[in-house]
Amino acid sequence: MSIISNFVLKENNGVQFYTIPAFSETGLVKHGFSTRIGGISGEPFNTLNMGFLTDDDWETVKENRRLFAQSLGIPLENIVAANQVHGDKIFKAGTSDRGRGAIEQNTAVKETDALITNEPGVALIAFYADCVPIMFLDPVLKAIAIAHAGWKGTVLNITRKTVEKMGEAYGCQPQNILVAICPSIGPCHYEVDTPVISQFQNNFNKWEKILKLKPGGKAQLNLWEANRLQLLDSGILDRHITVSEICTYCHPEILYSYRYENGKTGRLAGIIMLTN
Ligand SMILES: [Zn+2]
Repeated sequence: MSIISNFVLKENNGVQFYTIPAFSETGLVKHGFSTRIGGISGEPFNTLNMGFLTDDDWETVKENRRLFAQSLGIPLENIVAANQVHGDKIFKAGTSDRGRGAIEQNTAVKETDALITNEPGVALIAFYADCVPIMFLDPVLKAIAIAHAGWKGTVLNITRKTVEKMGEAYGCQPQNILVAICPSIGPCHYEVDTPVISQFQNNFNKWEKILKLKPGGKAQLNLWEANRLQLLDSGILDRHITVSEICTYCHPEILYSYRYENGKTGRLAGIIMLTN
């Protein structure tokens, strides 16, 4: 089946991945967001599991990462990965960091949920199964970033902080930065309860735009809109934001969803690398 989206689904050597048209048009990056199609993992991780922090076999995940990177034309040894902890730390990666966390977990950048670089050939990767992946590209000053924004990272404003960090580190102006909100759990399937609801009510003055309260103390949370509003507050232009609008829970045939599979599932990955 085909999913209607602002992203484009591509296939290379059997590996299926999404790309962001606004990013492709710049000609400055290689990038993609993985699906579960085209790897070698068995159930319940079938087949393109990107995550070492699952019960899947390490050699299998390593091969899957190689297959995905290869499908994007990116060498596996150029990848930089972080050990994600639902925090708000941002790491500035450079050429000397290449390979960290690429084929093992213990060399990954410690306790970090966003990576930035302005160096060509440094491939930033992050992992997801429902949490919101955000990719950034400043085509003017040639800088990129990737962030991992679950509900905790969203409350900590990791998306806004990543925009600010690109400014501090490289002089990026928000009005030039292109941003994409990749496949993740949608407002259709993200039910939360009181502790999460109160975090959003206390930290977002526009919380009515992202929480739909329901009887029984529950609410549907829209993390896509929460992060989009943070981007607009950061000075990112509305027309520079692409939201995939693909819900992982709605599409278990092509994507991993932690909630849909009750935690027994693989990980998706986003990768972005400046080519020059
Ligand atoms: Zn859904």
